[in-house]
Amino acid sequence: MIDLVFPVFCLGCGAESVFVCDKCKCKIARLEQQKCISCSKPSPFGKTHPECSSKNKIDGIISSVPYNDKMAKAMIEAFKFQSIKSMALTMAEMMADEIQSQGVKDYFSNFTVIPVPLHFWRKQERGYNQAEILANLLSHKINALILPELVKKIRNTKQQAKLKAEQRKNNLKLAFKLQSPSPEKALIVDDVATTGSTLNEIAKLLKRAGAKEVWALTFARD
Ligand SMILES: [Zn+2]
Ligand SMILES: [Zn+2]
Repeated sequence: MIDLVFPVFCLGCGAESVFVCDKCKCKIARLEQQKCISCSKPSPFGKTHPECSSKNKIDGIISSVPYNDKMAKAMIEAFKFQSIKSMALTMAEMMADEIQSQGVKDYFSNFTVIPVPLHFWRKQERGYNQAEILANLLSHKINALILPELVKKIRNTKQQAKLKAEQRKNNLKLAFKLQSPSPEKALIVDDVATTGSTLNEIAKLLKRAGAKEVWALTFARD
């Protein structure tokens, strides 16, 4: 983790001292409505519509900001390529704010937080897993247990963002493995959700291993 040993500048306005100043933080667009993971249409609390749902899918997803927000995108990029503790704190704070304002903070307190894993080599290369850092901070904020090692990525897959929808599904086949039995209720944490195929793949694994309810929590939503 880089800490504040040299001058830092706000990603938004360039003001010295923090990576995201309060003024710019307030300007980040919040997601107006939570959306179903399958059809991307609005849904209360981000719950997967009954008609969009199937046995092994994510039951719902809550995100804080739209991915197309310039500042949100800059934060994610910066966080991915340089571990910045203060950025992670801001992102986790905004994620916790969102579940608070959705009124589901207590609902998740008996869920087990599970970060989307990186493959060993990817993590070595980067030095950290950004989803794991967010998951750790969040588990404290909502008083929930965390199992950072439960899901392991056993195949170093291509970047999902670079693939077409049908390729994404195949790309993830047998990419993950469970290290121990699944908790009954799981909350998967990641920085961004795009098509949701990674989240659904992990949900499938957890549900086949006994999970009854699996939700996802991400900073941004495409
Ligand atoms: Zn600023
Ligand atoms: Zn739907």
